[in-house]
Amino acid sequence: MEEGTKTTFVVIPFVSGLSKNIRRICGRYNIKVTFRSGPSLRNQLSKLKDPLPLQIRSGVVYNIICAMCDKCYIRETIHRLEDRIKEHKSACIKCDTEKSALAEHARREGHHTAWEKVTILDDERRRFGLIIKEALHLLRTVKNLF
Ligand SMILES: [Zn+2]
Repeated sequence: MEEGTKTTFVVIPFVSGLSKNIRRICGRYNIKVTFRSGPSLRNQLSKLKDPLPLQIRSGVVYNIICAMCDKCYIRETIHRLEDRIKEHKSACIKCDTEKSALAEHARREGHHTAWEKVTILDDERRRFGLIIKEALHLLRTVKNLF
């Protein structure tokens, strides 16, 4: 470890069989990982207030599903979810398969996206934590990804 290197702390969901490796790998980059299981007291309490509308939230791992098969698209965005969804919709309308895997799936299979069923799987304000959470969700879902 380099002298003066700043330690970063992240809290991520515990995943059996993966968490040990994640901690070891993150340790190499001076990142301290804490795992959480189940809902925390903070999560329980935060449910008492009105949540932000899904579309205007930022710093999230989101899930978009196909309306016609079991494929799903999981990604993170540090920006507003609404802006990211607009980009995907635009790519689908223009059949821009370079910009969106959703557009590629729609073109190849003739399927359409269930825009009304977009969900947030996780959230995180810090970019690095968000990327780790995205990786965990991708690992859990690897069989059904676009
Ligand atoms: Zn499909």
